[in-house]
Formats: sequence, structure tokens, C-alpha cells
Amino acid sequence: MRIVQKFGGTSVGSVERIRSTADIVQAELKRGNQVAVVVSAMSGETNRLISLAQQITDRPADRELDAMVATGEQVSAALLAIELQKRGIAAYSLNGAQAGFKTDGKFVRARIRGVEAGHLIERMVALEVPVVTGFQGVDECGNITTLGRGGSDTSAVALAIAVEADVCDIYTDVDGVYTTDPRIVSKARKIDQISYEEMLEFASLGAKVLQTRSVELAMRYQMPIHLRSSFDLVAGTMVSKEDETMERAEISGVAYNRDEAKITIVGIPDHPGIASNVFGPVAEAGINVDVIVQNVSEDGHTDLTFTVPRSDYHKTMEIMAKLRDSMEARDLKGDDTVAKVSVIGVGMRSHAGVAQKMFQVLADEGVNIQMITTSEIKVTVVVDEKYVELAVRALHSAFGLDLAKDST
Ligand code: ASP
Ligand code: MG
Repeated sequence: MRIVQKFGGTSVGSVERIRSTADIVQAELKRGNQVAVVVSAMSGETNRLISLAQQITDRPADRELDAMVATGEQVSAALLAIELQKRGIAAYSLNGAQAGFKTDGKFVRARIRGVEAGHLIERMVALEVPVVTGFQGVDECGNITTLGRGGSDTSAVALAIAVEADVCDIYTDVDGVYTTDPRIVSKARKIDQISYEEMLEFASLGAKVLQTRSVELAMRYQMPIHLRSSFDLVAGTMVSKEDETMERAEISGVAYNRDEAKITIVGIPDHPGIASNVFGPVAEAGINVDVIVQNVSEDGHTDLTFTVPRSDYHKTMEIMAKLRDSMEARDLKGDDTVAKVSVIGVGMRSHAGVAQKMFQVLADEGVNIQMITTSEIKVTVVVDEKYVELAVRALHSAFGLDLAKDST
């Protein structure tokens, strides 16, 4: 097999950890596999570097930030290469440019245009081990760019695609994706296999195990990702194409996000263009609107309710206050103590009544649903933040996801 292994910050966080990581690489070679490695910076290093720049100015130029933070990954790549070489393995470090990562010129949030890594295939076949810096590339002028925080997941998937790997193993400090947050539900179970689409839904709901872009990229090229722990070498979660032959449970997991605020603009004169009038200025301010509900209009007036990230609540309320006046709306209400709870799963496509079951479970627990939105594989409700834990626990249990007592 040809494998790209990615190690996150905690897996290269100290010389000791680098040794354990080298053990994992070495074991894979011993199994007869071809390996390329992608590393993050040592844990905390990217933040440390950014704070240095911020001690000089609160507005450092993005180009210089990239030049600076890219060094974090160069250190960990070189250290791992040194450790592997000490063991007689033909490893060598490569930075983003050397590994062929070409990006656009948008500093601090660059996108990969292509990975010219064909030359690495020969080296891997010869059992040499390229150790590549994650998170970075070069633009067409040769400037160093970085891919946004958490970007080395995306680097790893892109490299796996470029060298035609069989799988991209992403080693981190958790051993996989869980049916829900184990901090809330002790009976949460590790999911063995999850589809790309489900993983994207989990990721967008704050389960930040993988950078969302890496999953999108993997989905486009059908590159399987094995998300696993470098601390405990048990099988993790396989993120891959949906297995059509498998019987699916109704749902695969329950996710939640507390980072939500809800805004209602009441009694807007209803005519074409109001939604665009309301959401135009919000979009211009760079604020992501999520759940939107518009009421049926009564005597020519309607209400619009929507959610935004909690950190954008005050800014959005200011924009809305101006609009309320200019659009002659009757009232404006806001609440920044709401949360989103979702049930997710491709099984919903073949099981009817998942939404109804969810509503019933919440009703039985006395949880009031404020807003509802659905997609093909997800049902989301907005509820008062204080009910999140109760809702998540009740749903996890009602949909049969709780770990059986005897299987611990
Ligand atoms: N070192 C970068 C960060 O901390 C990239 C990564 O770790 O994925 O965001
Ligand atoms: Mg990460």
C-alpha cells in the first residue's frame, strides 16, 4: 500500500513525541508499505509565533505572517526526518515549495492550485520517506503562503491525491469521530466508518477534528481518510465513500453547537426584495447567516428569523437596527443564548420519520423548539442553550446510539 501519514501538533509536540511518531512511520515501512509524511508545527508553536508578531503590531502584514508561521512546520519536519535517519531510514524533509504545493496568492488563507509531487512517487517506491511540511505552499511569484489554521489536514489529503496513495492516515490526539461529544454523553461510541457527507455535517457543527476543506477535497477525489490517534494505535474512524451495501441505522450521530445567536425582525412590509435587503448588508459585513425562517405574511407584514455565530451577534444587531428603521419594520428581537442540535446520518434517506421522532423526543423532555431546518441527511433544531445537554443525551439514547453496558 501507499500511505500518506499526517501527524498533528501533539504528535510532534516534543522530542519524545517525535520518537513515538517515528515508531509509527517505521512500523508502516516494516509492513512493506510506502510512506510519505505530512506534519503540523509542534503544538502551540503557530500561536506562539503569531503572538510574537502581535507584540510588535496588532496588524502585521499577512505576507510576513505566512513567512513566519511556515517555519513551525519546517522545524517539526526536519526533526522527524533527523529521528528517522538516525534509525537508518532514508527520510528527508521538504517544505511546501520543495514538495510542489502551488497555491493562489491569498496570504493566510491560500487555496491549493495543484501539487506537483509526481517526483515523490519514485522516491516512495524506493522506500524513501519524504517528510513534508503541512499548511503551506508558494504562490506563482514564489511567496510563501499558508492555508489557514488547521490547514495541514488539507495538505495531507492533497499530497495523498497527488502521489496516488491508497489512504491518508490522519494521526491526532483523539481516536476518531464519536456519535456525539463524549464530554456530554459518556455512552458515546466511536464511529468505525462514516461517509464524507456525514463528516462534513459533523465538522460544520463544531466537531473540529479535521479541517472541513480536507474532507471536501477527499470527497472530490474519493480519497479515504483514516482518522486515528497517535497515542493509542487502535483503529479509528474511516471517512470514505458511502457503502451502499450496508444497512444503516436511522442516524449516525448527534451534534450540537452553542456558538449561535438568533435575531428576529418583526413586521416587515412584505414585498419582493426584503430578504435580499436584510441579508445583503449582513453578507457584506462578512457574517455567515445559518438557519433562516420567514413567516407567512399577515396583513402585508412578515417576520424573518435567522441565526448567526454568537461572536457576530452585536454587529448583526447594529446592522438590523438601521434596517428596522429604513424598512419600517415593527420590531427587532435578539437572543444570544440559543444553540443548535442536529441529528445526522445518511440512513435518513431510507428511514422515514426521523424528524418526527426527534421532535417527539424533545417534546417528551419539555424542550421547546424555536426553529427547524433540514437537509437530506440532517435535521437541525434551534433551542435554548440551557437544554443542549438534555437534548443531546435524550436524542442519543432514543436513536439507539448509546454504548451497550456490556461492551465496555
Ligand atoms: N500549524 C498550523 C496551525 O496550528 C496548521 C496545522 O496545524 O494544521 O493552524
Ligand atoms: Mg489540526
